[in-house]
Amino acid sequence: MSPATIVRVALVVFVLAWIFGPYELRSAVPVLIVFLIALGLELNFLIGALRGVRSPRPDRKPQKIDRERYGYDAETDDLVLVHRNGEEVWIPYSGESADEIEELIAEAESSPPEVDEPVFEPEGRSALAPVRQFLIGLGIIGALGLTIWFVESRTGWNSLDGSTRLEAVERFSEEASRIADKPVDIYCDESRDFVGAVQHADGVAEVGGERAYLTPEICHDLYRLAFEDEVRGGQTARAIAVLAHEAWHLRGVGDEGVTECYAVQSGVDIGRRLGLSEDRARQLMRQQLAENALRAGGSVEYRVPPECRDRGRLDLDPGGTRFP
Ligand SMILES: [Zn+2]
Repeated sequence: MSPATIVRVALVVFVLAWIFGPYELRSAVPVLIVFLIALGLELNFLIGALRGVRSPRPDRKPQKIDRERYGYDAETDDLVLVHRNGEEVWIPYSGESADEIEELIAEAESSPPEVDEPVFEPEGRSALAPVRQFLIGLGIIGALGLTIWFVESRTGWNSLDGSTRLEAVERFSEEASRIADKPVDIYCDESRDFVGAVQHADGVAEVGGERAYLTPEICHDLYRLAFEDEVRGGQTARAIAVLAHEAWHLRGVGDEGVTECYAVQSGVDIGRRLGLSEDRARQLMRQQLAENALRAGGSVEYRVPPECRDRGRLDLDPGGTRFP
């Protein structure tokens, strides 16, 4: 496979995974950057191929094909360039004396004249071939971009009509305001100016502020729960926890670990209010708490503190027996 083919196959596989794969991939990798990289590689192939056609590397020594024809030992013989009647002739030379060289030259002169050979151009079919290849690459990138646009506009948050989205966002804001203990606004960041993509975050909020932004995926999962009674396990759990997390930031909690600890506890309430049974809501939030250590990975900042336990300092309901 040529490098161009490998790049194109990889791009197709990635885009399919991006469309149909886990939502984590979507929120972690901005697809636009992947397209830009693919475009850059195609340009690189084009420039490389055009250079190869326009300036074949000059090699004034006899070509391998000539050496084979005239029986030169390519490995051991040196070659001497002799000018004869305005032409250049290569003579194999392996330490002969001046006389012997004269003999070799005479020999070469008596040898039959060279038959004119067609000039050999590497990849010389046509300078248009790389351009054609480049256009094929562009076509593939364009087709994949259209596919994503088509799928995005018919599925997911962006496929909902404006009034439905507005209604859903008002519902999310209402839930967030309860936690923040003041009126706050939740926005679904459809253009991904604030969340997802580069920030690697499901949501973003100013500590103590009045507005928070969620990714369209989080918004859509919340919408499915609140408006269509559709629960998608961990995905729904994550969406609830993210809404609660940003709401706690708006309330004024800055520490990420503490915020997440409060979020999985408040999430039970949000889940219940959006349609889950209490048991299901608690189960989903316990799962979020368990996943916290995995998700936080190496970054201590996002890990919930040890005090995040039943009757611990961060227990929002120290009298209760269930946590979260
Ligand atoms: Zn946070």
